[in-house]
Amino acid sequence: MSKKLLLKDAHVEGIRYFETYRKQGGYGAAEKALKMTPEEILEEVKTSGLRGRGGAGFPTGMKWSFLAKPEGVPRHLVVNADESEPGTFKDRYLMEFLPHLLIEGMLISSYCLGSNVSYIYIRGEYSWIPDILEEAIEEAKAAGFLGKNILGTGFDCEIYVQRGGGAYICGEETALLESLEGKRGNPRLKPPFPAVKGLWERPTVVNNVESIAAIVPIIDITGAEYAKIGVGRSTGTKLISACGNINKPGVYEIDMTITVEEFIYSDEYCGGIPNGKKLKACIPGGSSVPIVPANLLLKTVNGEPRYMNYESLADGGFATGTMMGSGGFIVLDEDQCVVEHTMTLARFYNHESCGQCTPCREGTGWMYKILKKIEKGEGRMEDIDLLWDIQRKIEGNTICPLGDAAAWPVAAAIRHFRDEFEWHIKNPELSQTQNYGLANY
Ligand code: NAD
Ligand code: SF4
Repeated sequence: MSKKLLLKDAHVEGIRYFETYRKQGGYGAAEKALKMTPEEILEEVKTSGLRGRGGAGFPTGMKWSFLAKPEGVPRHLVVNADESEPGTFKDRYLMEFLPHLLIEGMLISSYCLGSNVSYIYIRGEYSWIPDILEEAIEEAKAAGFLGKNILGTGFDCEIYVQRGGGAYICGEETALLESLEGKRGNPRLKPPFPAVKGLWERPTVVNNVESIAAIVPIIDITGAEYAKIGVGRSTGTKLISACGNINKPGVYEIDMTITVEEFIYSDEYCGGIPNGKKLKACIPGGSSVPIVPANLLLKTVNGEPRYMNYESLADGGFATGTMMGSGGFIVLDEDQCVVEHTMTLARFYNHESCGQCTPCREGTGWMYKILKKIEKGEGRMEDIDLLWDIQRKIEGNTICPLGDAAAWPVAAAIRHFRDEFEWHIKNPELSQTQNYGLANY
């Protein structure tokens, strides 16, 4: 059984409220942290090996150590709760059921970073969650864990919740900052990174909800103990939101030593595939990461089992590996059509492109149109190479990673499932009435 750090009290009735959270030992880590120096907390976070849980996996301690500290300039912590990656819903679970875990993590992090005013920028579609967060903030304030002179330490901290307007691009950290400043959410060129020039040009740390929640157990058990959980550079636990063709969709906390096979088939997690169907493929890290066929998902190229961690999932690079990403684990059974699935994603990225850069603005639209043609049985063989060419020209040539995120699913689908693209082109009549999976298995 995986060790639980974040979700250990998720089943406790009333854990959403301060009183119950406190009874379970909540805010104990904050009390401990406020007796430490900010430098000591930073050392604990570095020692823990925590990597950003939003998708990029950037070491959190390193990010915090990059925070510029010019004299007299306020610094900010901004929590990225704009969870919009298709297949990803773990932060929603944390905020809805354990809001105080996030608030406590924010208090410790704000104290360490020197942020007296911190923000949660939350996805607009999570319309019912801001009230839950604001209630938790009020409760924490009433108990002396937020506001002025917290626990008599002289440290002041306010937390504000800002609702997004429903644009996927505002989850990109610089677009998020633009939106928080009241502007259109267009990504900025990096560098400068937010750690140097962020919100209102002030030094800012932007971290994902789960990353900040993980600060609580890190302080509780120490960074060194946290680093002993997991394997290699995949330390601690990771939340995975599992969906698609599985018996038990939901949010699971894993310790990153289990295999992909165990995760899909064990009753503790996804509970296998409904109706005894075969596994076809999986997208393990949210829609932006490459799709991997079953044979490469259960084993690496070297025949080793594939594990649910950053290194093992990426083993083989883009040719045969994929990424941990945001932990949005999407399972496809044998009946699914990869072309149709890729087309749906292409439509999404095209719709969500902010339009600033030509390769993304135009390329995502072209990819969607070509995929739509192929899926309807109206494609030509040369369209497959054209698609390949377009995605290559998007990748690496845009301001923000949305371009790459749109290109990679197309590249991986062609690389691993070219036969499905060819089937649609060779069987125009069939492809108008059936999908590839149903017709071929
Ligand atoms: P990134 O690699 O550019 O940056 C990661 C983090 O490290 C950022 O906060 C960045 O500011 C910081 N950083 C990197 N180098 C730095 C430096 N030299 N100095 C200071 N700070 C530095 O990636 P990203 O754009 O933040 O995220 C991309 C990922 O987001 C994708 O891989 C995707 O998986 C994920 N994603 C997640 C969601 C979601 O809903 N959770 C949605 C879309 C995308
Ligand atoms: Fe906008 Fe796409 Fe360019 Fe990102 S890559 S800045 S979403 S046009």
